Amino acid sequence: MNPVDIRVIATAGHAHTHRPAAHDYSKNPMIVYWEMTQACALACRHCRAEAVSTPHPDELNYIESRNLLHQIAAFDAPRPHLILTGGDPLKRADLYDLIDEARELGLSVSITPSATPELTFDALSKLKAHGIESLGLSLDGSSAARHEAVRGVDGCFDLTLRAARDAAKLGMPIQVNTLVSQETADDLPAVYELLKTIQVMRWSLFFLIAVGRGKLLQPLSPEKGEELMRWIYSLAQNSPFAIKTTEAPSFRRIALDQMRKAGMSAGEIERTPVYRGFGIRDGHGIVFVSNQGDIYPAGFLPLAVGNVRRDRLMDIYRTAPMFRALHTPSQFRGKCGRCEYSALCGGSRARAFAYTGDPLASDPFCPYEPKALAVAAAGD
Ligand code: SF4
Repeated sequence: MNPVDIRVIATAGHAHTHRPAAHDYSKNPMIVYWEMTQACALACRHCRAEAVSTPHPDELNYIESRNLLHQIAAFDAPRPHLILTGGDPLKRADLYDLIDEARELGLSVSITPSATPELTFDALSKLKAHGIESLGLSLDGSSAARHEAVRGVDGCFDLTLRAARDAAKLGMPIQVNTLVSQETADDLPAVYELLKTIQVMRWSLFFLIAVGRGKLLQPLSPEKGEELMRWIYSLAQNSPFAIKTTEAPSFRRIALDQMRKAGMSAGEIERTPVYRGFGIRDGHGIVFVSNQGDIYPAGFLPLAVGNVRRDRLMDIYRTAPMFRALHTPSQFRGKCGRCEYSALCGGSRARAFAYTGDPLASDPFCPYEPKALAVAAAGD
């Protein structure tokens, strides 16, 4: 992956941007998430997929799945990175054939399996042998009690840690995904300490959007979210692994402000890990394909814009009106449309949709008042 798409030259409080053609996210996504199946032995409380134990009868079959892989490989270089998700991708009988096909097409592939007894050392070895680049695991608490209280599944804490340690033994890079909500916020420092004992590549903090089973959990207030993001930024300065946020793009505003305050030059900012995510958001740099082939701007933005059975993924991503709007921050409404950070942040389109039904509305999680808005308000 080479995700640098957007140059941010921070001068005098403004973010000026330009996009080199090779990394134009209005043409090519950086990541394609493919929900291979909804089948999963677990039933976590905040599962986006509302996974069930059996595959959907209309799940993409092997031929259709191969066709999807060819559609992904048709994007321009650098080709998107493919993340196999679910449900539990290990529930797909043709998983390894499809990984082989993707690799032969030149795609880099990661996987987010569920922490079940099937996720053994042998299963991980096999994934690695077939060319899986990295593994995503969910860990929502620093202890069995905390993790399982959030996920609602007994025993999955130990299985998660076992899989993480096995993957580390195999030299497989691991991304640990942790939910950020009212239920988990006070435990995050302890999760960080736990992760320091495991060889992880990246910690991704997913800020809850109340969709699917997530409605049982409570998101942080915008003010608490800002406080937490500042803590994440300072933690990341000395962390042994990378730390990123998911569905909290306003973290980039906070990070950029901190970097400016520290007197960093534009070149130094471009070399920071957080810079790599600048400009990417739901439907812009990211696209999601469901187990039945529906094309969504993101996994948490349940607005089907086409289907890979009848549409070309590339055509939808580049030309469907919804994607075109998501590629164009000036079309966003409210604060996010007027914000000087809209190109590098743009707000969570999924959260905007979850709260208002409008994916172009303002992200309700962000308390920032854009400069343009403040000027307009002062003139009223
Ligand atoms: S107002 Fe919108 S674009 Fe501006 S920082 Fe907040 S979420 Fe990002």
